[in-house]
Amino acid sequence: MIVVLLGPPGAGKGTQGERVAAALGVPKIATGDVLRAAVKAGTKLGLEAKGFMDRGDLVPDAVILGIMKEALAQPEHDAGVILDGVVRTVPQAEGLARATAELGRTVDVVLMFDIADDELVARLSGRTTCDTCQKPFMGLEPGQPCPDGDGTLVRRKDDEPDAVRNRLRVYREQTAPVLDWYIAQGANVVRIDAVGSFDEVTARALKAVGR
Ligand code: AMP
Repeated sequence: MIVVLLGPPGAGKGTQGERVAAALGVPKIATGDVLRAAVKAGTKLGLEAKGFMDRGDLVPDAVILGIMKEALAQPEHDAGVILDGVVRTVPQAEGLARATAELGRTVDVVLMFDIADDELVARLSGRTTCDTCQKPFMGLEPGQPCPDGDGTLVRRKDDEPDAVRNRLRVYREQTAPVLDWYIAQGANVVRIDAVGSFDEVTARALKAVGR
């Protein structure tokens, strides 16, 4: 089962995606995680992506399409995969449709996480992220140890207020049209209310994927 997670930054796609992936027994790919790991490792991909990411801008489509195709070709994704933040522009959605068709596969469900802007700003500006496992935490300060591992919590550069505002603008201008594109294609789009406890939102997401 190929599941595309759509929704603004801070809607909870990452956390909920992990839970849906665990319930379905399939891996999750997040392009944001792939890119942050590349920045940390100082690879060519990381050097290319860093400036875009720090400003809260999108990394060019060609870069994302490369990551997407490479990931889909991995045998561990044969049984299915959860794509978290992987599709953020209409050309990326078109590219994914081509890549899946070449493999004789299709996107089975598009989960759209619905949430209001003011809730997002509050969530993102109160968030710290582990520099090692990349898990997000609310109500913990930068510099504290990660509660779940060996890392240290940091404030992501793109969770600073200016970058958050830019990410929301980029979302509205470039990513929101992806939802309309999937609807126009007749895809199985399910809207999920992303406000509620983790467990409530997970229950909605699992229902949407038939669990
Ligand atoms: P995320 O962790 O999903 O919030 O992604 C962090 C940043 O990585 C984004 O603000 C973009 O700069 C970049 N990024 C991640 N996924 C994509 C994508 N599909 N298209 C373009 N840029 C992306």
